[in-house]
Amino acid sequence: MRNNLWLGRRLEQIWELLFQDTQRKNNVIIKFKGKWKNKFGHIKTLKNKDTEIAVNSLFQSSLVPEYIIDLTIAHELIHYSHGFHSPLPKLYSHPHKGGIVTKELKQRGFANQLSLEKNFIKNEWPKMHQELTKYNRKSRSSNYSNLIKWFRF
Ligand SMILES: [Zn+2]
Repeated sequence: MRNNLWLGRRLEQIWELLFQDTQRKNNVIIKFKGKWKNKFGHIKTLKNKDTEIAVNSLFQSSLVPEYIIDLTIAHELIHYSHGFHSPLPKLYSHPHKGGIVTKELKQRGFANQLSLEKNFIKNEWPKMHQELTKYNRKSRSSNYSNLIKWFRF
């Protein structure tokens, strides 16, 4: 089950395997958040100076391939390693300067996943996003009645 605990373990695994050169200088928390169409994740600094990595909560659905989550985590970790929303020294003037994140994702072994993701975003994500958010456009109460129906049949 893809919950925040699972997501936290995923972060640890990716950090340990692929970001051994990136020192963890503060508390980094990760959670599923938002149901964005045009954003897969973000990284920000919280008031208490912890770093928060957010991953689109629609990725909890098993319809979304796991490599999409891995890529999102790795993308945000690259920002962290470059000193964006982390206590590490800032290496660039802008977080995406010269396609630096994509370049580094390739260097860290994500080239194949990146090309799969390109295809996923173009051909699958728009419909999938619509599918995954369709009940949210209705009220909470109709959400509830859908749930009842689901359990009864
Ligand atoms: Zn970014």
